[in-house]
Amino acid sequence: MSTATATATAPAAPAAPKMRTPIESGVPDNKQYMHPTMLKNYGNWKWHDRPRPGVLHHVSHSGDEIWTVRAGTQRQMDVYTIRKLCDIGDQFADGHVRFTIRSNIEFMVADEAKVAPLIEALTSSGFPVGGTGNSVSMIAHTQGWLHCDIPGTDASGAVKALMDDLYEEFIKEEMPNRVHLSTSCCEINCGGQADIAIIVQHTKPPKINHDLVANACERPAVVARCPVAAIRPAMVNGKPSLEIDEKKCMCCGACYPPCPPMQINDPEHTKLAIWVGGKNSNARGKPVFMKMVASGLPNNPPRWPEVSAMVKKILYTYKNDARSWERVSDWIERIGWPRFFEKCDLPFTKYLIDDWRGSRSTLNASTHIRF
Ligand code: SF4
Repeated sequence: MSTATATATAPAAPAAPKMRTPIESGVPDNKQYMHPTMLKNYGNWKWHDRPRPGVLHHVSHSGDEIWTVRAGTQRQMDVYTIRKLCDIGDQFADGHVRFTIRSNIEFMVADEAKVAPLIEALTSSGFPVGGTGNSVSMIAHTQGWLHCDIPGTDASGAVKALMDDLYEEFIKEEMPNRVHLSTSCCEINCGGQADIAIIVQHTKPPKINHDLVANACERPAVVARCPVAAIRPAMVNGKPSLEIDEKKCMCCGACYPPCPPMQINDPEHTKLAIWVGGKNSNARGKPVFMKMVASGLPNNPPRWPEVSAMVKKILYTYKNDARSWERVSDWIERIGWPRFFEKCDLPFTKYLIDDWRGSRSTLNASTHIRF
């Protein structure tokens, strides 16, 4: 047999194994969604201004200009509302919209002639235009009854009721500085620092359903979850369960997510508290933690009138008393906490005193990276 014949009949080498492609689950590249004018001028903006409340105007070194129109929505949106907003985006903003960190919706327009018709289309469809500069921006909120598995209140409902009252403050820029409000439907998970925040307040320890704990909860994980070491394993009615030292429990609700049989939500004892003076940014001053100034307000759906009245009392005292450019935290720092309580006509009670010493060494109070 010749060498050439042997080569022709040799079996083909096995194909190299196909490598598994990694699943990309991070944040997608935002440039693929950007308005073409923004993409073209990315990082090349010369100056910007606000021609009216709710409209930002950016001018590039290339001479290109773009107008951003900001609108508010009813927070939890159905598919019909989202389609309506998308249709408006298709008609006036070349099909590009984005949401801000506080869930305002923004439409980008490269043609100034389209700005007024876009504003008219939004307002006539019930979406107020505003939320820029020294206004009350959309209220950030946690998921509430629709999505969250541990909500003590419907944060989005409380926000809708309050924004209905603060409509004028959204469409005008008449506050001393920008005002960020937020609502949290539990005490421990989502939420952040805000100028004025509405936060759920549990006022009694969890009530344990001992029949369910062994099947539903990983007990060591629940014990480890408690920040004040108030939970211990226990045998109850012959079944492995948990028990709470109620003298230690500070009613935070951290044990409820990993162990739903430790029910802490309660129509009577779950209340709402108001916190003020928080700030996430480093602008003009360091970030500041909020402090509780009103506690035990009724959790009163569907309009939460007591909570809205309290927020408005604090907000309008700030509006009338603060100097230009003072955020709520700057204002309070200047006048002092005793004057804040006097001016807002709020009682200072023992429930506002933070006596949890663990916070001094465990809470991270700066934005510096630690190693
Ligand atoms: Fe501990 Fe908070 Fe649960 Fe009380 S509510 S037992 S403090 S985790």
